[in-house]
Amino acid sequence: PAKPVYAGELPMGLQAISNIIAVSSCKGGVGKSTVAVNLAYTLADMGARVGIFDADVYGPSLPTMVSPENRLLEMNPEKKTIIPTEYLGVKLVSFGFAGQGRAIMRGPMVSGVINQLLTTTEWGELDYLVIDMPPGTGDIQLTLCQVVPLTAAVIVTTPQKLAFIDVAKGVRMFSKLKVPCVAVVENMCHFDADGKRYYPFGRGSVFYPNNRFCLYIQVVQQFGIPHLFDLPIRPTLSASGDSGVPEVAADPQGDVSKIFQELGVCV
Ligand code: ADP
Repeated sequence: PAKPVYAGELPMGLQAISNIIAVSSCKGGVGKSTVAVNLAYTLADMGARVGIFDADVYGPSLPTMVSPENRLLEMNPEKKTIIPTEYLGVKLVSFGFAGQGRAIMRGPMVSGVINQLLTTTEWGELDYLVIDMPPGTGDIQLTLCQVVPLTAAVIVTTPQKLAFIDVAKGVRMFSKLKVPCVAVVENMCHFDADGKRYYPFGRGSVFYPNNRFCLYIQVVQQFGIPHLFDLPIRPTLSASGDSGVPEVAADPQGDVSKIFQELGVCV
């Protein structure tokens, strides 16, 4: 793949990271953080050294989704660097661990805070840093992508009518930055009850409302994205997000873990 577009020197704290994966979505609430956290813990389970950077300063979810003993980031006063907190062997940085709660900030300030958190952290040697991107494809996201050399992007969407348009927006942003989109996760696509499968948001894109398969064809053909994953609605996935133990860590042999293992192999 072409060299990613990012401005300036690679910050010190990021120099020993082999792969930086952005998990992105056009809208909030589609399950981006759920995917980012479970992907990270799957990679860790596969033996990789992993970190998660929660870049959503307006609504940081990481402090809810994982439950590290130490819920505050520490500073190295001499080097003026941030030391990540850790849970089940995964290094974690979130604005929500900075002791300030949710932010009320304007865009450029947000970018400054995100970049500072990301680049002044002592990540150490990592095989993967998973970035839970702020939702959307605006300036904050673009700036973030220019600060770090992303290896790959995963796009999370729901199967509603605008899904295809959302995916296209995300792919365009990353392709401008020469970052390959390796997978799309279509979240909350179905649930099973009473021996039947239900599709609460319909079965795929606006162009082919009754044919889920066509979204796949379009995504693959138009953008050359090699993988599309269906993530079903699972009460356990939601409950684990609230409980602070990611589902893939709580139930490593479960169906959801299998989906994330396949995704883990793609990134
Ligand atoms: P985002 O990061 O896109 O804002 P989240 O990952 O925070 O979205 O998910 C929003 C809510 O939906 C959370 O409460 C999460 O636990 C829940 N959720 C996400 N995906 C699923 C799923 N497949 N099944 C059940 N609940 C889910």
